[in-house]
This record gives sequence, C-alpha cells and structure tokens, in this order.
Amino acid sequence: MADVPRDLLEQVSQLEALFTVDAKKLKEITEHFVSELDKGLSTEGGSIPMNVTWVMDWPTGKETGTYLALDMGGTNLRVAEITLDGKRGFDVIQSKYHMPKNIKTGTSDELWDYIAGCLEQFLASHHAGQEITNVHLGFTFSYPCTQPAINKGILQRWTKGFDIDGVEGQDIQPLLDAALKKRNVPITVVAIINDTTGTLVASNYTDPFTKMGCIFGTGCNAAYYEVVKNIPKLKGHVNDDIKPDSVMAINCEWGAFDNEHAVLPRTSYDVKIDEESPRPHQQAFEKMIAGYYLGEILRLTLADLHKQGFVFEKQDITKLDEPYTLDTSFLSRIEEDPWENLSDVELLFQEELDLRTTEPERKLIRRLAELIGTRAARLSACGVAAICKKTGMTECHVGADGSVVNKYPLFKERGAQALKEILDWDIANPDDYPVKVTPAEDGSGVGAAIIAALTAARVEKNLS
Ligand code: BGC
Ligand code: MG
Repeated sequence: MADVPRDLLEQVSQLEALFTVDAKKLKEITEHFVSELDKGLSTEGGSIPMNVTWVMDWPTGKETGTYLALDMGGTNLRVAEITLDGKRGFDVIQSKYHMPKNIKTGTSDELWDYIAGCLEQFLASHHAGQEITNVHLGFTFSYPCTQPAINKGILQRWTKGFDIDGVEGQDIQPLLDAALKKRNVPITVVAIINDTTGTLVASNYTDPFTKMGCIFGTGCNAAYYEVVKNIPKLKGHVNDDIKPDSVMAINCEWGAFDNEHAVLPRTSYDVKIDEESPRPHQQAFEKMIAGYYLGEILRLTLADLHKQGFVFEKQDITKLDEPYTLDTSFLSRIEEDPWENLSDVELLFQEELDLRTTEPERKLIRRLAELIGTRAARLSACGVAAICKKTGMTECHVGADGSVVNKYPLFKERGAQALKEILDWDIANPDDYPVKVTPAEDGSGVGAAIIAALTAARVEKNLS
C-alpha cells in the first residue's frame, strides 16, 4: 500500500492492531471457551446456555414419512413438506413467505397469526380439495429456548434484532397452537428445533461423518451430541429412557460466549454495538462475528474515522450515520473487488452512501473490510475448536449453513487456517485437515422433518 498517504497508513496499521487476533489469542479464547461450555452443562449454569433439545438419537438414515417443516428465519418464513425416503434421501415441496419488517418489532399476536396464516396458505395451495386431519410439524425457531420437552420451547431472549414484547419467558408452542386453532388449521407442533440442531441432524443423515452443526449467518451458533452422563444439569431426569450413556443434542447458543467480557478482544465499536442494541450485555460473541453485525462494525469504524478527519473530508455523511444501513453483503462486495483500482468500491460508496472516495481511502476501506471479515472467521473457529477439544473429537465434518459461511469471500478458508493454528496441525494442504467445515444439508427443512420422525419413533418405542 505504498501510495497511501502517511496519516491514512498510520490509521491502517492502527486498525490492523485493533482487529487482528493472533494464534496465541485464539488459543487463549478457545481454552476459555471449553471451560464455558462445561459451565453451561453444569447445574449452576454459565453464560453459554447449552440448551438440551431432547433430540436423543443419531439419525439412522432409514427414517421415513412425510412431515411439515416451518422455518422462522430473520427475513423469510419458509414452509416445507418433506418426504424422507428411508435411504438417506428426501423430497421437498416448499414455499417462501416474506416476513414483513415491522413484524420483528410488532406484537406477539401479530407474529403468531402471521405464521399461522402462512401455514394455512401452504396447505390450501399444496393440498387443495384434500381432507387433511392432523399434520405433524417440526418448527425451526432459531432463538435460544429452554426446552422442558421436545415440543416445548420457552424463549430465553430474542436475538438478531428481534424485539417482540410478551414472548420472552413464554413457551412458544401454545402461542402458535392457539393461532392455528383460531384459523382451524389442523397442524400439531411435534418438535421445536434450533436451526443448528436441524443442521447437525440433516447433515449427519446425508453424511454420517458430520458430528457438529453450525450456523454462520445472521446469527451464529452450534449444536453437537453430548453423552448424558456429561450433562450434570440433567441429573434427576436420568431414568429408564435416558441412560447415562445415551446421547442428547445440545443447542449451545454460543453467541452468548463471553457475555462477561473476560477474553474477547472487543474494540470500542463492538462496545458501542452492544450498548445500543435492544439487548445489551447479551450475545457478546455473536455481536463480533455474525452477519447481522458485520456491516455495522464497518459503518461505526468509518463514521469514527470521518469524525477524526481521516476520511470523506467535508462530505455529508448522513447516510453513513444511519444505524444498520450496511449489511454483510456490502462488506462482501468490498472484499470481492480486486485490489487494482477498487472501482467497485468507488461505485458502491457513491451509489449506496452518496460518498466520494479517494484511492487511498478505498484502500483503507478494502483493508478494513478484510480485517473485519477475517476477525469474524478466526473467532468463529474458536467455537468449533472448543467443541472438538471438549468432546475429544479429533476428526469430523462440521455441517455449516448461513449467509456468511455460504457467501462471504474466504470465510471458510480463513476459518480453516485459524483452526489449524489453534489445533496445531502440521498439515500443508487444507483438504487434509482432520476437522473440516462442509456445506450443510437443509437443517431447517430436512433436519426438522428427520427430528419429527425420530420423535415419532421414540414415542412409539416408549408406548410399546
Ligand atoms: C440464535 C440461535 C441461532 C443462531 C443462528 C442466534 O442469534 O440465538 O438460536 O441458532 O442465531 O441462527
Ligand atoms: Mg435460517
């Protein structure tokens, strides 16, 4: 970056110091992560919820049946009808419904009625004229829930910018159920599922070497199977059905890692995001790595550099001053621009933010995006490494889904490099790394259906 003026160069190296997490720090974070995962499983609990899911079987691949799956993501609502063929395969019919933006901060009644309406519409359009009696639904609800049973989910707190009154602390199953009854929709919620658990199960169904399910998207999180005897907080539940050697899928909710701010290298921008979010002091880890926040980290950093007089001199930064105006795809597009003249970055800033940029400014912006994206990938790897260390897994596939891992340039490669540094692999070719992040099977659809099937099989077994 020889042609960057001195003061901007200085800024770049300061940013590098702020956002770079070296191998030593990654290891320190991972060590702390392992102890926090343990704490979450203890009777006293810790910051990481480590929610038991009551998914107590690995899929066999032989699951059969037709199930409805509902996926309530941040932007879309998806309803799918999935038929499992018993041979590790499946068929899917699905419809997507747009989640109106105001629903995210509206009322609980509006939310459940909207969802019930989509389910009603799905049955009407795919089963017109047929008599439907009782459809079993796997509901993928990707927020932290305490699960006293597989079909119950008490919302611990909203994440990813959701802020709907009257749902936190409530079991969401009766809320959806009441909305369905009101419309006479013959659907029973048989399982409430986290997207990570769905991803784990769906990916293991098609690739049995998958032992962990992760989401690196709008939010971030992971699930894996823990042995019951290693879950002290399950004491008292252990009986004929739940033997000490049985397994239980754990929805870690690792976005909450380090809520007490002991190890993560937070910048003043991370602190600001937290303080101005609807849920301060929650999801500390998620706020540094998930898609919902990456654009905001970039925006706050640039606005601060402007305030200090380093960039966009004498320009009106009204648009840049708007919170959450930049999403992660904005960063992706910056990183996708090759270094030469950064003409895409120039256009991007002009069109989206009404800002003119000089070439040195564009170089700074490009480097900053790279730093933010790299930090996210490297910190994410600490979570994966921590689960490996905790469980003693040295080889596995990690089924991963979400917009960041699927679309952000080099996220996977940077994550793999960090894993190598944390776990001290002396292996040159990334294809040979023993723990590998692989593209996941559709967890919120297929995974939800498999979990519904596993639940039905378990109920039958217990009745017989
Ligand atoms: C939620 C998790 C979810 C993750 C990815 C987080 O904000 O708390 O339940 O798995 O986002 O969607
Ligand atoms: Mg999703």
